Amino acid sequence: MAVSGKPPYDDSNIFARILRGEIPAKTVHEDAHALAFHDINPQAPVHVLVIPKGRFVSLVDFAAADPALQAGFWAAVAKVARDLGLEESGYRVLTNMGPDAGQEVPHFHVHIFGGRRLGRMVPPAAA
Ligand code: 5GP
Repeated sequence: MAVSGKPPYDDSNIFARILRGEIPAKTVHEDAHALAFHDINPQAPVHVLVIPKGRFVSLVDFAAADPALQAGFWAAVAKVARDLGLEESGYRVLTNMGPDAGQEVPHFHVHIFGGRRLGRMVPPAAA
């Protein structure tokens, strides 16, 4: 179910549990600032999630984080995209926030998609 409104950070969310090692994930990268792992329900041949190590629901929350954490997180996103071999074929980085975007997990994260033509950026509005 999509996250609604702007909830406070919930320490029981699935990505918080992955960060604490309570739930396994197929890790592709980990450092002091970020963890990257394969999405459990991939929407493209490459579908990796990158999450910051901290308690942030959304991009706006994360923008108030320690600048070193923000820099480290975005550096990790770029490193993962490069290490996945997507520089030549291309890729898409996306974040969802709130109900209109269908955010499911209330821990700020970005998706990295690649490995096929990704089509339109946003589907047309329903008639
Ligand atoms: P959102 O809609 O919040 O941007 O995306 C959440 C993503 O997390 C979805 O693509 C979903 O497939 C993925 N996901 C949900 N639960 C798990 C899990 O337990 N493990 C992993 N690896 N991915 C998950």
